[in-house]
Amino acid sequence: MKALQIRHCLLLFLLTAVRTQVNPGVCRYPLGMTGGQILDEDISASSQWSESTAARYGRLDFDDGDGDGAWCPNIMAETDAGGPKDFLQVDLRSLHFITLVGTQGRHADGMGNEFAQRYRIKYSRDGSRWVAWHDRKGRQVIEGNMNAYDVVLKDLEPPIIARFVRFMPITDHSMIVCMRVELYGCEWLDGLVSYSAPAGQEMTYRGLDVHLNDSVYDGSMGLQSVGMEEGLGQLTDGTWGLDDFLHSHVYGVWPGYDYVGWTNESFPKGYVEMTFEFDRVRNFTSMKVHCNNMFSRGVRMFRQASCYFRTSELDWESQPVTLRLPVDRVSQSARFITVPLGDRMASAIKCRFAFNEAWMMISEVAFQSGTAVYNTSPTPRKRGHPTNVLPGDDPIHKVDESNTRILIGCLVAIIVILLAIIVIILWRQVWQKMLEKASRRMLDDELSARLAVQTQAFSFHHSSQSSGDGSNSTYERIFPLCSSDYQEPSRLIRKLPEFAQSTEELAGTSSSSRPPQACGSDGAPHYAEADIVSLQEGTTGSNTYSITAVNMSLLSGKDTAMREFPRDKLTFKEKLGEGQFGEVHLCEAEGMQNIVEKDPSEAVNDLSNEVEGSDDTPILVAVKTLREDANKNARNDFLKEIRIMSRLRDPNIVSLLAVCVESDPLCMITEYMENGDLNQFLSSHQLDEVEEIQSSDKATVSYSNLMSMATQVASGMKYLSSLNFVHRDLATRNCLVGKNYTIKIADFGMSRNLYRGDYYRIQGRAVLPIRWMSWESILLGKFTMASDVWAFGVTLWEILTLCEEQPYSQFSDEQVIENTGEFFRDQGKQVYLPRPACCPDAVYSSLMLGCWRRNAKQRPTFQEIYSQLGESQE
Ligand code: ADP
Repeated sequence: MKALQIRHCLLLFLLTAVRTQVNPGVCRYPLGMTGGQILDEDISASSQWSESTAARYGRLDFDDGDGDGAWCPNIMAETDAGGPKDFLQVDLRSLHFITLVGTQGRHADGMGNEFAQRYRIKYSRDGSRWVAWHDRKGRQVIEGNMNAYDVVLKDLEPPIIARFVRFMPITDHSMIVCMRVELYGCEWLDGLVSYSAPAGQEMTYRGLDVHLNDSVYDGSMGLQSVGMEEGLGQLTDGTWGLDDFLHSHVYGVWPGYDYVGWTNESFPKGYVEMTFEFDRVRNFTSMKVHCNNMFSRGVRMFRQASCYFRTSELDWESQPVTLRLPVDRVSQSARFITVPLGDRMASAIKCRFAFNEAWMMISEVAFQSGTAVYNTSPTPRKRGHPTNVLPGDDPIHKVDESNTRILIGCLVAIIVILLAIIVIILWRQVWQKMLEKASRRMLDDELSARLAVQTQAFSFHHSSQSSGDGSNSTYERIFPLCSSDYQEPSRLIRKLPEFAQSTEELAGTSSSSRPPQACGSDGAPHYAEADIVSLQEGTTGSNTYSITAVNMSLLSGKDTAMREFPRDKLTFKEKLGEGQFGEVHLCEAEGMQNIVEKDPSEAVNDLSNEVEGSDDTPILVAVKTLREDANKNARNDFLKEIRIMSRLRDPNIVSLLAVCVESDPLCMITEYMENGDLNQFLSSHQLDEVEEIQSSDKATVSYSNLMSMATQVASGMKYLSSLNFVHRDLATRNCLVGKNYTIKIADFGMSRNLYRGDYYRIQGRAVLPIRWMSWESILLGKFTMASDVWAFGVTLWEILTLCEEQPYSQFSDEQVIENTGEFFRDQGKQVYLPRPACCPDAVYSSLMLGCWRRNAKQRPTFQEIYSQLGESQE
């Protein structure tokens, strides 16, 4: 098992290592102004107002009390007409792909009120040639801040590939500007510094002008014969074209926008030549070229690609690498073509792409290269900064010309990395075990001091023994993936507290209107990675994630219904299921009738009405037991679930009847729901309207039954929201089904075993039900009633599709997170769950889509949902 796990991790590691194309949706990590990875010496400015407003104080969301809270230039920044002259410059020390910038003014704890309303950006890859950034429509000016404290984030469309970036504030003479900034992106692993190619041409298609130029190229644009030189542009912007080249991903642009294209009429030699220059000598494995192939409109991918190589000092080598492609007469889809580059060493590559049709169109080019071996290794930067250096940083670097040495070097490096990974994995496992043992020992000591030893035999030993293999005693062990698998999204999310200020309103949690919600000690919203694991956890300890104040009060208030029940009065009947904490059993509880009848609450009275017979008649109950080898965290979570449940009383919330907590194993006794969880229940049913019912042995369920179940879920949630209680994990798997389609919401802890595929694991610990989570829960860590409403929308979708598939089943976890980003950006690219076949248009468009509105305040409340569901059934 362990060997399999290690192999899995290695495979994933290798897959990550060979990834070539940059993904602008994921490449959005803060590059280190706030976090300090960018050193003071790499932040400079044209001028400073005083020593206390020097460039090094221009870090976003960072005020160490040392300076005056931001960078402020000496003279007032000039007006737009004169062009801004002052700048704050950041040196990233290596090429980066920058997708987002954030700015903030000088607040200085209320002492400052200076900010830049507008600014421009200039960038450079080599420190000498500077390019003024402009958006896809040619606009250079970026709208900045409206006050001194809010962070304003701007997507850079197109993204920048640069080492140096300058922020140049624009304002009128009357205003002093101060700025704090952050850059977001990732390292530019391609190492491509520029490409040269003939300028893209113009096509006329059925009277339509199709501009196939490289509209964001940042080099010099000469005549067609000279073409584009020394720049990067659309071919490296991380966005590739659609099958139909007349359309584009980008809104409001001209036909042909995504592609750079040429016609063979202008190229008598029959090919287009492109030259790619790199930051240093690299060992190239392959090149990927994204081509259009709409042959019905006279466009085909290239017939042949021949690539020549050049190391820095030498001329082009005579032997090219050539790839010939068969003609595809079937599929017109645009696609990436991989050209193997045969591990050739080069700092420049010249490729000739031969025409196969009247037109050839390319939208993206990416390179995959190993690392060349240098005589001297670059000096690693302090504080975890990337170690890539540009030529010129290290004047003595030279390429080792011995291929054998390179090969041996690479192999040794790979072996060392693999050994390091194995050691880390083993080390982690040893530590995990030691920690578990230590915490259990502490727990035992604590228990023996506090509790009198109880020796009562538990009449169903079965439960405590069957889960003793310890295979999933901690959350970390639930999934066999290694933590590096999902490092990118978690890093993506970790930067997102910065989003919070500018998006608070949208997420419906601005301080004036938000429901009680606590933040971490620094007041910033925190991503809820551990939060879901220790859902509704009241302790802070090492995790600083949010928990609603009311949920807290539910936890800390006086226990109301924690009746201890004698274990020997429980008789095991059968195993109902397995949860995070241990097994769930069906038991007969002798004397429980007394307890049920004494409970005045409506929910429990429901149960007592169902049970006929004398006080002594045993009743059927579900008993959830904490497995014996559970660690302290699991034990605390279990006790917290007990405390939460003991305070909830509603016909659509599962009732806690009693507990056994005076001795181990801990148990909670809840009412028994005959038909198990809603997900399993619906999966084993089919809609009675389906025609081929006879051919299946599935039981049937009617549309009105489904709607009645959804209404009950809404009713239970209405009750929870009346207490301001945020469930955070609403889904069909967490609802239980009783007789006559009765539904009750359960799982105020975690259910992770049977449905582990529904959860997304981050940083080796946390698990998140991302397919049910609102964008603000994923990106900002905000859990509110409105995010429960979002989850209700997904739950309703599950109900109306009879849980035939997981939400967004066609998406990988990463794609789900990217889609969440689209919900945040709201440019019409977000993908919604489709209308289930049996769902009327009105229910889909007003109710389901309403739950997934971007603005949390515009989502319906559970009260409204409940009423609307009632109306739709009338
Ligand atoms: P956990 O929350 O620890 O993951 P669950 O509460 O989800 O555990 O229980 C696991 C499974 O046991 C459920 O999927 C369900 O099939 C069954 N189960 C749990 N509680 C009941 C109950 N009260 N009545 C009937 N079946 C139950």
